Amino acid sequence: MPDDQRQIVDQLAKRPYAQTMVGHKALVTGASSGLGRASALGMARAGADLVIDYNGSPEAADELAHEIEALGRRAITVQADVSKEEDVEALFAAGVKEYGTLHAVLSNAGIQRDAALLDMTLEQWNAVIGVNLTGQFLTVRAAVREYKRRGPQPEVSAALGKIVCMSSVHQQIPWAGHVNYAASKGGINMMMRSIAQEVAPMRVRVNAVAPGAIRTPINHDAWATQEAYDNLMKLVPYNRIGEPDDISRAVTWLLSDESDYVTGATLFVDGGMTLYPGFAHGG
Ligand code: NAD
Repeated sequence: MPDDQRQIVDQLAKRPYAQTMVGHKALVTGASSGLGRASALGMARAGADLVIDYNGSPEAADELAHEIEALGRRAITVQADVSKEEDVEALFAAGVKEYGTLHAVLSNAGIQRDAALLDMTLEQWNAVIGVNLTGQFLTVRAAVREYKRRGPQPEVSAALGKIVCMSSVHQQIPWAGHVNYAASKGGINMMMRSIAQEVAPMRVRVNAVAPGAIRTPINHDAWATQEAYDNLMKLVPYNRIGEPDDISRAVTWLLSDESDYVTGATLFVDGGMTLYPGFAHGG
């Protein structure tokens, strides 16, 4: 990324967060890296206490918890594999035990297991659908169950509860060599909207954020070298890679009362990737 753009994104990330999530108890899956980590920090900066789900070694999750505590907020870490029903149940139980309830959930955990169609194994297909789609179903269901159990708490949240599903531009843009991933994100779109329709009368809001190319470990190869970065920019009209804080700002808005009349929506945060930039000079 050119130096002048780097300065701009560094300045953007330093802007304070408005205190829109004070009193909120928020849970983030896959929170120990990338977009989940940034969003957990963003929500803490906006006033929330956090449940940090991680899958694997605890060091990064512990470090995040310490950063959140340094901001004056509370944080607990819980190991849970979102593709396993019993893990998700235990994750929510741990959050409720610590805080009494939850008001906001970011269903974020996701993986890629890329292969051309003819080489893709059933294991690769099932792994991605299991985490990215079934994991989101289990997480959203657990969130709605907890919101219903707790009942209204209008002094904290106008809605009974709020949920954001982390989707991708690939809920819309087909992606050769990634059929498992694109199918999982396309599935999230209809899952999110169907659940939003079902639970709106309970005053639960369910939305999605669809990131474009964001600088995280999941897509390291797409931005790590100058050549890769230049190639990537051909797909991004706004001509910079997204930063995790760009996503955190959108997530925090959707999980706060600032967006109280928004449900069933997907917010694309993609620098224009879904504007079909190939058509700017052709078609
Ligand atoms: P990441 O690899 O840094 O984060 C993914 C997180 O999910 C990791 O912390 C990982 O440990 C966790 N995870 C994986 N399997 C899990 C499981 N079974 N249970 C619980 N946690 C699990 O990548 P990221 O970019 O931060 O991705 C986060 C989400 O954003 C994913 O859903 C991804 O599809 C989506 N996304 C990312 C981009 C991007 O450009 N980075 C673009 C579009 C969508």
